Amino acid sequence: SITSLPALVRARTGGLDKTFIRNADGRDFSFADFWTLSGRIARALAEAGVEKGDRVAVQVEKSPEVIALFLACARAGAIFLPLNTAYTLAELDYFVGDAEPKIIVVAPERVSALADLAARHNATVLSLGVAGDGTMMDAANAGDGAFADAKIGWDDLVAILYTSGTTGRSKGAMLTHGNLASNALALVDTWRFTSGDTLLHALPVYHTHGLFTATNTLMLSGGTMLFRPKFDADEALRLLPRATAMMGVPTFYTRLLQHPGLTREATAHMRLFVSGSAPLLAETHAEFEARTGHAILERYGMTETNMNTSNPYEGPRLAGTVGRPLPGVEVRVTDPASAATLPAGEVGMIEVRGPNVFRGYWRMPEKTAEELRADGFFITGDLGRIGADGYVSIVGRGKDLIITGGFNVYPKEVETEIDLIEGVIESAVIGLPHRDFGEGVTAVVVTDKARAPSEAAILAHLQSRLAKFKLPKRVLFVEDLPRNAMGKVQKALMRQTYAGLYG
Ligand code: ATP
Ligand code: MG
Repeated sequence: SITSLPALVRARTGGLDKTFIRNADGRDFSFADFWTLSGRIARALAEAGVEKGDRVAVQVEKSPEVIALFLACARAGAIFLPLNTAYTLAELDYFVGDAEPKIIVVAPERVSALADLAARHNATVLSLGVAGDGTMMDAANAGDGAFADAKIGWDDLVAILYTSGTTGRSKGAMLTHGNLASNALALVDTWRFTSGDTLLHALPVYHTHGLFTATNTLMLSGGTMLFRPKFDADEALRLLPRATAMMGVPTFYTRLLQHPGLTREATAHMRLFVSGSAPLLAETHAEFEARTGHAILERYGMTETNMNTSNPYEGPRLAGTVGRPLPGVEVRVTDPASAATLPAGEVGMIEVRGPNVFRGYWRMPEKTAEELRADGFFITGDLGRIGADGYVSIVGRGKDLIITGGFNVYPKEVETEIDLIEGVIESAVIGLPHRDFGEGVTAVVVTDKARAPSEAAILAHLQSRLAKFKLPKRVLFVEDLPRNAMGKVQKALMRQTYAGLYG
């Protein structure tokens, strides 16, 4: 019987003579090749001393071999631990100290820079380059490649993924085979993926979106992925006629909209555009539909839970909502103070429960106890509401809620009003320390230079639209909002940058 993610993969696509990954450099991997490759890597890991439960830390640029390495770890019962390629040596030191991996996989040119760090933490360094080069692949390619998968159960850990660090220090989320398999199966069904699909994959693979949401779904459905190192609108438009689906962060869609080549004809071959990892503006959804005829399907998930909710494949994809809970997933909204479940329509803390929910934060038992309730619900940290139609809307992060003079201000409500003003491209509303109000509502705005409204004009406009306590005390203008690779606006960083604004 099947009790692990790789066993499920093997049963569904293991021997398929069909392309799984077509890499940007022209290299092509069939499902059958991929299964063999993952076995070879698994054997190399075992020869390097990796045993069940050991961590394998991976900080390399995107390549098909990274996905094969993930599957190899899963087959060996090891725990895959991908790290953002932007992390510096000092940051890497923290993660390696925290996770204590047996192996660290890095780019060939970084091996010597890592030697000292690896020695201090008793880890072995293997290398993997974007062309499938390096010592890890040398070891994998030696010998006959035979590998007997470890005995694995659904509750065994398969990955530790660090959260994006948007609200504070990144935490290691412990994910099981059951977490990933249940979610991938739910997504195959909900989004109707089949072996006829070709997914344009331009996301990073150190994050849950590009690594699990995209890859596991395609690995189980038998579809093909067109792998690109990063998103480029020109290139995407060249590839869309060969694709049937794309998964992206909202900035992919805003960049496509800035491209004159985005038309109905250019997207005629596509059946599905999915967005997530950060809020998609209702305006982006509407513009994209007007230009292409496609309603972007927005969904909601996070490192700790995989995907929780999705707009429907058939049925209305409502802009500004993240749809309904996936099969098997429960969502409730609670009062942050009393923890009581709130009725439909009321804003509170979003909590989720289901086979997708992680086992806790790696070596952070207090944090785990704070965020996982005894009845199994995970407290997401996101504020939102569930409409009478069951659709979930996200209002923002609990940590971004502004409390000014004792009143709650939801930044999104103010941002939505500012974004409607002529000449405004986008905005972020944050609370900054303020002597009289505790926090002062502050708007940070990106404008279109040709018709930029002034601070006074923005404030004058908002006065007629919002209660006085919600009005920004100041409006600051910037070229761009600070975003990370997943398109998340870095509000914690902005709060630091402007901390002294009110003296
Ligand atoms: P950290 O937990 O370290 O502060 P993070 O929460 O950004 O970082 P991720 O797990 O990458 O780390 O992101 C999950 C979060 O992304 C969710 O909790 C939610 O705030 C946001 N998110 C994901 N999808 C959506 C969406 N469709 N709309 C709005 N927000 C979304
Ligand atoms: Mg988070």
